[in-house]
Amino acid sequence: MGWIVRLFVLMQLVHVVFCWGKHGHYAVCKIAEGYLTKDAMATVKELLPDYANGELASVCSWPDDIKWYYRWYWTSPLHYVDTPSFKCNYKYGRDCYDSAGRRNNCVTGAIFNYTKQLFSAYQGYNPNLKYNLTEALIFLAHYMADVHQPLHVGFTGDLGGTILKVRWYRKKTNLHHVWDTLIIDTAVKTFYGSDLSTMVRAIQRNITDAWSSDIASWKSCRHHDRVCPNLYAAESVRLACNFAYKNATPGSILEDDYFLSRLPVVEKRLAQGGIRLAAVLNQLLNFEVKIGQSL
Ligand SMILES: [Zn+2]
Repeated sequence: MGWIVRLFVLMQLVHVVFCWGKHGHYAVCKIAEGYLTKDAMATVKELLPDYANGELASVCSWPDDIKWYYRWYWTSPLHYVDTPSFKCNYKYGRDCYDSAGRRNNCVTGAIFNYTKQLFSAYQGYNPNLKYNLTEALIFLAHYMADVHQPLHVGFTGDLGGTILKVRWYRKKTNLHHVWDTLIIDTAVKTFYGSDLSTMVRAIQRNITDAWSSDIASWKSCRHHDRVCPNLYAAESVRLACNFAYKNATPGSILEDDYFLSRLPVVEKRLAQGGIRLAAVLNQLLNFEVKIGQSL
């Protein structure tokens, strides 16, 4: 019995090792910064710790850095939500729970929670100061990015691709890590002169150019909801099925064909994560609207 428990714990640990890498989180938050209103940007800067030097993107990986500390261990299931293998769909009530069966402990539940915390503090009714709003901001920025990584809404059976062994060119790795880090890192090296900022600028150009007519639909949620993580998760699992898992069975060697056809998907998800993060922060942190309405 003991070894089964240990194996189970080990599998859970393996699962949460990975997240959009530092580059992915930086890109999403950098893109979001460019679309914040003046008021939202001012509030973000007030909330950021001094060491961020007013740059949201510089702290967006923080939830990955701290999730192994005892104090923060409870946050580790909040980076993803797994779905039944091969179903290719997502349902909050069916899928959002952690390994101990606690409901709402998943990435979409976390986005709802931190949105609510910031809303209650900044938009009027029942300001609840028990929340640490700096943490709420950084967690929200981080999890908004994670939910856009297709394999953060991957199958339960392979723990979102973390135990699905593949090769990335010659390197032994797992499919989850390919999507968190290796596609982005290979693109930065191959196409962007090893400079992440150049890649971010290329994505920003696509937002104002090729994708400009899609932006309104990316930002909108049904029923005028402020944020719609269930929609983002449903998109992610569809992309996981159609792109991430496709032609990536255990032992596959993933090379140019896979890289070149999946990179546009990764770049679009980074863009959508950034645009949607800015959209929700603009709604939550817009003091001017609140003051204007109360006069
Ligand atoms: Zn994460």
